[in-house]
Amino acid sequence: MLTGVGPRLVEKLSKLGLNTIEDGLYHLPFRYEDRRQLTPIARLSTSRQGVFYGEVLAAGETHTSRKRTRIFEVIVGDQSGQISLKWFRYRKGWLQKRFPLGQKAIFIGEVRSFGLMREVHHPDAELLTQHVSLDQLAHSDPLNFGRILPVYSLTEGISQKQMRKIWFALVDQFAHDITDPLPQEILQRNKLWSLSRAIRACHWPDNDQSLHDIEKGSDCGRRSVVFDEFFYLQLGLALKRQGVEVEQGIAFNVTHRYTIPLNKILPYQLTDAQRRVLGEIKQDMMSPHPMNRLLQGDVGSGKTLVALMAALIAIENGKQVAMVAPTEILAEQHARFFTDWLEKLGLNTVLLKSGLSVREKKERLGRIACGSAHLVVGTHAVLQKGVEFHALGLGIIDEQHRFGVRQRAVLKQKGESPDILVMTATPIPRTLSLTLYGDLSVSVIDQLPPGRKPVKTELYQYSKSLDAYRVLGSEIDNGRQAYVVFPLVEESEKSDLQAATEAADRLAADILPQARIGLLHGRMKTVDKDRMMNAFRSGDLDVLVATTVIEVGVDVPNATVMLIEHADRFGLAQLHQLRGRVGRGSDKSYCLLVPSSSYSEDAAKRLQVMVETSDGFRIAEADLNIRGPGDFLGTRQSGLPELKVASLLRDGVTLDLARREAFAYALKTNYLQDPASEPVWNELLRRWAGRLELASIA
Ligand code: ADP
Ligand code: MG
Repeated sequence: MLTGVGPRLVEKLSKLGLNTIEDGLYHLPFRYEDRRQLTPIARLSTSRQGVFYGEVLAAGETHTSRKRTRIFEVIVGDQSGQISLKWFRYRKGWLQKRFPLGQKAIFIGEVRSFGLMREVHHPDAELLTQHVSLDQLAHSDPLNFGRILPVYSLTEGISQKQMRKIWFALVDQFAHDITDPLPQEILQRNKLWSLSRAIRACHWPDNDQSLHDIEKGSDCGRRSVVFDEFFYLQLGLALKRQGVEVEQGIAFNVTHRYTIPLNKILPYQLTDAQRRVLGEIKQDMMSPHPMNRLLQGDVGSGKTLVALMAALIAIENGKQVAMVAPTEILAEQHARFFTDWLEKLGLNTVLLKSGLSVREKKERLGRIACGSAHLVVGTHAVLQKGVEFHALGLGIIDEQHRFGVRQRAVLKQKGESPDILVMTATPIPRTLSLTLYGDLSVSVIDQLPPGRKPVKTELYQYSKSLDAYRVLGSEIDNGRQAYVVFPLVEESEKSDLQAATEAADRLAADILPQARIGLLHGRMKTVDKDRMMNAFRSGDLDVLVATTVIEVGVDVPNATVMLIEHADRFGLAQLHQLRGRVGRGSDKSYCLLVPSSSYSEDAAKRLQVMVETSDGFRIAEADLNIRGPGDFLGTRQSGLPELKVASLLRDGVTLDLARREAFAYALKTNYLQDPASEPVWNELLRRWAGRLELASIA
């Protein structure tokens, strides 16, 4: 379709994921080069891209002083000074021919300082037959001189110059065909350009634009493209949210039949934050539309109790409650917690897990189907086909980040528009939660129960690991308990398991002979896991050596030490979760990080963050920074349209603007009644490509 692009080039471009004209238009430069003017050699600053004119004063092969590697060096000068150009990989004959003495050229490259000298490695050069001014050059070769130039990511077999040429043609030919139905008033209000103009400016910025803005990504062109992308993303989310809001749900009554008695027997009071979010949840539950709420709260903030309160409201109304947890251990723990309290109120809890006998399972399913089970706790087992509720009114998902959007939908279908509460301890930076959970309402528990002491986090290098165990030993001598955690990596599962097993043996034999030590790992049978966990919980074990099966949610207040071996191999979110297992009682607690004997720079950053802060929110921000948003929380599988240009890290401000506009637009523009808005809705459907069903929203 594009002249000059033949089948072989098409193949190469498809390696960059570029298959359509639209892909091409959105393939924006990853940086720019300022070739608006030449800089005199004396004024070239280091660590920056320099564009300068010079004449070859000397050229030839030489070698570095120490390693005696060959290099080709060319000295060029202008009236102001001289600079050295160096090649480390080259064909000698070719360079000699290219740069004879007296050759004039324009050079482009990053200027480095080397001792007192400045030099440029592997510069680009545009040879000149005579001294021409930049204006003349820009005139004869406007794609490469006299302006701010795009630099694209390349694939093998395409040069930057070639790419620039093709992309100039592409943008020139097709950018004005981009029609974007975004209302003018929205563009004006936010000082934005039309998508067509914006895309063009991103590829070929005008010479009067600020390079600083362009480099920071805050120029009008890029901002407009980003806004556009965020707008449709947020508009889709706004509709999803509205769709839920108009759907008929259950309007619960808050009778306090069970909640007041529970409050009377609880050994503590709800924190202000718990009370506040419970208020928000109550509002949702009382409304005639289904609740879709995310409860966010740092590890140990007491989400389970809030879930219990919400469950009681549903039960007061003759409805059942389902609670889904990501691991067996956690489901067990929840079952124990809920059974404890519900029993005292004369209510029944049923636990669904794998490994039940056929008879047991049938009996439990029967109790769920007839309604005698008020609350059902379990793992994925709860979501399976055979599980039918008599009247499911509230579905709760714990540790939501372990589940997908689909599981939420399955749970919903187990009842007639039940309320849904999802809980997560993974603190999500605001920009991310707006996109990832943009269709949910969010409540945040931003306060820990009183009396908690912050966990002291210390880094012990590999060679000092015995010191870490000494800290652990003295806590045990004081009657406290400790976890020792090993990573479990798929490929080498066996050897890690071995490491954990051996460590348990070694601890028992040499380091902590006085301690009672148990081993917990993912390959154990459920009954054995339960037995081990219960032994630890009841204080029959001092140390639990474990693989990450204990990562989420486990709650044993007497445990005051979390020692993490090979800490470099864990992600930040995981480390934070693990640390959250201690500091749950009123005693001082320790998180001791022991990394492998050598580890990466990223790992060092993660460990540093852990030592510096226990603020889950800051940890999440740092995680996002180290890992990048695509990876974070597996957003790639989130079922949202992919962001081609916008960055959740850089573009938070634009995201806010777009969200506000999109939600307002969704509110005041009814796509069925307002034909003028039809192009916007069509564009919305196209962007979400089947991931959004307007029909279900009408
Ligand atoms: P998370 O939010 O990580 O799931 P949990 O619900 O497991 O936290 O609660 C952590 C611990 O705090 C539990 O032992 C729980 O009993 C206790 N807890 C919860 N709420 C309060 C409160 N208001 N006052 C004192 N302790 C509380
Ligand atoms: Mg929890």
